[in-house]
Amino acid sequence: NLSTKLDRAFKTLKGQGSITEINVAATVKEIRRALVDADVNYKVAKEVTDKIKDEAMGRDVLISVSPGQLMTKIVYDELTELMGGEKQDIVIKGEPAVVLLSGLQGSGKTTFAGKLASYLKKQNRSVLLVACDVYRPAAIDQLKVLGEQVGVEVYSEPENKNPVQISQNAIEYARKNSKRVVIIDTAGRLAVDEQMMTEIEAVKRAINPSETLFVVDSMTGQDAVNTAKTFNDRLNFDGVVLTKLDGDSRGGAALSIRAVVEKPIKFISTGEKMEALDMFYPDRMAQRILGMGDVISLVERAQQQFDEEEAKRINQKIRKNQFNFDDFLSQLEQIKKMGNLKDLVGMIPGMGKAMKDIEIDDDAFKPIEAIIKSMTPKERAQPELLNGSRRRRLAKGSGTDIQQVNNLMKQFEDMRKVMRTMNKMSQTKGGMQQMA
Ligand code: GDP
Ligand code: MG
Repeated sequence: NLSTKLDRAFKTLKGQGSITEINVAATVKEIRRALVDADVNYKVAKEVTDKIKDEAMGRDVLISVSPGQLMTKIVYDELTELMGGEKQDIVIKGEPAVVLLSGLQGSGKTTFAGKLASYLKKQNRSVLLVACDVYRPAAIDQLKVLGEQVGVEVYSEPENKNPVQISQNAIEYARKNSKRVVIIDTAGRLAVDEQMMTEIEAVKRAINPSETLFVVDSMTGQDAVNTAKTFNDRLNFDGVVLTKLDGDSRGGAALSIRAVVEKPIKFISTGEKMEALDMFYPDRMAQRILGMGDVISLVERAQQQFDEEEAKRINQKIRKNQFNFDDFLSQLEQIKKMGNLKDLVGMIPGMGKAMKDIEIDDDAFKPIEAIIKSMTPKERAQPELLNGSRRRRLAKGSGTDIQQVNNLMKQFEDMRKVMRTMNKMSQTKGGMQQMA
């Protein structure tokens, strides 16, 4: 999937101090390929990656965030922006408000009609469903079943084969029966054909809906984009409904459709249950396409709150094997600034599960801080000064016991050992790659 591909792409960036022209080029190429594999239209994928490249060039990499994570964040921001940034609501306007559904046969129009009716009914609106699929008698029954399920009346004229008339009559009926929203379900074809287009165009012209929605199956990949373009050229629709996102659809259709027809996606449909209707959130879809879970929010918080200068300073000290208790304390402060520790741990991939049953809270740091704060400046800068009698003094001063002080000393020594090893490895050619 896309996320593993991106992971692979980011490997080339690991261990690099900042993102440069050379190391970004290969990554950008990989990202483009990955987007195309996720059903994003090639031209769109190229536009996205060109922008990403501009964004990424020369960005400093924070000590807490790998270049790969930073790239993920840049890609995520770009995808969100491309899909419209903010979510867009359906427009319900008029007496009654009329919503016209269009799309190919099997795209999920009738199912969506039921879901939308249920959604609007929950907002205390009186809704009328209209069966305008005049070609398949079974289509009327399907809508009636759904209407009954969600408790919404269904209007139909089984003998009438003229969808323009039926929809006009239905609106008249709605006015008389004080229905505020009319949802018109229409007939589709298996592929775009002239008769279908002419028919839905005529319905639209006759009833002037406040909202014309194009319903499309997200599993149809590149075809979804072409179909969307054809329908939009004829109908100039107001928004898109992306269905069947419960399957293994990769969501790339959302990106290309939005970019190609420049119309917002308003709803997504994720199953056959009448409750499985969701608003479309560009940022959530970007996450889905990236498959990166909460890495993004982790990076975001780190970026907001990490003091970049401090990070650089500490990085320098680590490189020179000079990391001491002052630096340790400062790192603790930074981590605490980032918020709830449990949340933080939960956001690291794989970590949340492992730590599920372990109690972590901000108090866990208190004894450590107390011990470090009991040290003299000289002791903090030169931890090797801390012999037995000094350690006993620290225990007393911090209200902890000698065991806790010894534990901290041990952890700190282990940390420094790891840092020394890292430094040695980075000095040997290719060492960092090995680490990554
Ligand atoms: P229409 O021809 O456009 O009216 O499409 P239908 O609403 O009849 O849906 C076609 C098929 O897709 C039916 O079997 C639906 O149950 C199914 N379907 C519709 N929406 C979804 C969805 O969001 N997820 C899944 N898994 N199936 C769906
Ligand atoms: Mg139908």
